[in-house]
Amino acid sequence: MTSFSDLTLVEPILRALEKQGYETPTPIQSSAIPLLLEGKDLMGIAQTGGGKTAAFVLPLLQRLSHERTRPKPNMPTAIIIAPTRELASQIGKAIQVFTRDIKMFHTVVYGGAPYGPQMQDLKRGVDILVATPGRLMDHMKRRTIILDNVQTFILDEADRMLDMGFVDDVQEISSKMPKEHQTVMFSATMSPQIKRLSKSLLNKPEYVEAPRETAVAETINHSVLMVSRDHKKDLLMHLLGMPDKTKVIVFVRTKASTEALVEDIQNAIEGIKANCIHGDKPQRARERTLRSFKNDRISVLVATDVAARGIDVSGITHVINYDLPMEAENYVHRVGRTGRAGASGIAISICEPRERNLLRSIEQMIEMKVPVDNDHPFPAPAHKERRAPGKAKGRPFSKTKKPSFKGKPKAAANSGKRGDFRSKSGPGKPSGRAFAKPGSKRQSFKRAS
Ligand code: AMP
Repeated sequence: MTSFSDLTLVEPILRALEKQGYETPTPIQSSAIPLLLEGKDLMGIAQTGGGKTAAFVLPLLQRLSHERTRPKPNMPTAIIIAPTRELASQIGKAIQVFTRDIKMFHTVVYGGAPYGPQMQDLKRGVDILVATPGRLMDHMKRRTIILDNVQTFILDEADRMLDMGFVDDVQEISSKMPKEHQTVMFSATMSPQIKRLSKSLLNKPEYVEAPRETAVAETINHSVLMVSRDHKKDLLMHLLGMPDKTKVIVFVRTKASTEALVEDIQNAIEGIKANCIHGDKPQRARERTLRSFKNDRISVLVATDVAARGIDVSGITHVINYDLPMEAENYVHRVGRTGRAGASGIAISICEPRERNLLRSIEQMIEMKVPVDNDHPFPAPAHKERRAPGKAKGRPFSKTKKPSFKGKPKAAANSGKRGDFRSKSGPGKPSGRAFAKPGSKRQSFKRAS
């Protein structure tokens, strides 16, 4: 097995790796680091969770620290672009960790944050600049970033950048760099558009791919729960009411639905603390929410795909897909939030009838059938045959005992206003029957602690 020292990394980096508790390189690190140290252009196919950040950050640091001269004001030596603020911050943090013993300056710039502090940092001079494409372009127009000294250009999550419509910005940014520079592109998928972009940006690139199976199946227990559209929300509340849901990300499709769902969750389940992140939320509010999630002050984070990319929160026990992703590869990104660095995790998808095609494309992409679990109070009929062969009629949530749902539902959950998902029994009636299996006791969503 390769070790970090076999990869010819220098002593200060090896020390930082040791401090971080990294013992062995991940597959993408073993294959990418030597090529990048040689200065090659590279196309890497890797999902979040496989250690791709260190795969490009470590060789970059090593190359830059070799014969380093102090960077000139507003002229960074390396540029890393990432599609979202969260991912950019995450990369910035990785650089910070690995530069404790190395003289190297970096800063992170993204939209939604004030220009003043960013301009000050840039003026002081940075070796590495991490940026979202939009804000980088703004600084280029203001001449507060000049790309004449760039030696390395790294694009992280390039597929996501294309999805978000940054392709022209990316081309323009690249065109302002000196002809001779190293370009590195990482993407979770190799779509025709990514192929085209890589052809236009990369010069005789090497190609590396992280083994796919580590990206999803191995440490993550997947299941899908079939449900009618009417009972989707009831089912989510039922799942979140289980005591094992200690740190959960709930993925939804639209920004608009995040806030309403948080309200519904807090109304429905006593004592639960939830919040959301989405693209329209101010940066500071997003950061605050993420900190609360990291520090266990909230246990449920509702998020859209774009806002959640790049989030690195350890100890996430469950990923719940409240809406299935429109693009299959986002399934990989979503479930990659749990089961990180070898820990086990649980990914539960809620699937309403009109989402069955999305489920099929996910299964094709991850090359496995997601086992159906109909052992919940709202099973949609006629899909029992999809249960994975040989799989016990399982409970996807955990092996722990279900809580008993005794007592009354919280009044707010039955108020008849938006967020009232107790659909059948009509507003005002003190019943939680919509959650209950026919003939079962009344339920509320008081969470066992
Ligand atoms: P990434 O795919 O870059 O987002 O990394 C996913 C997680 O794995 C991060 O929390 C990293 O700190 C961690 N990680 C990356 N490389 C290693 C390694 N070689 N050993 C242990 N953990 C790692």
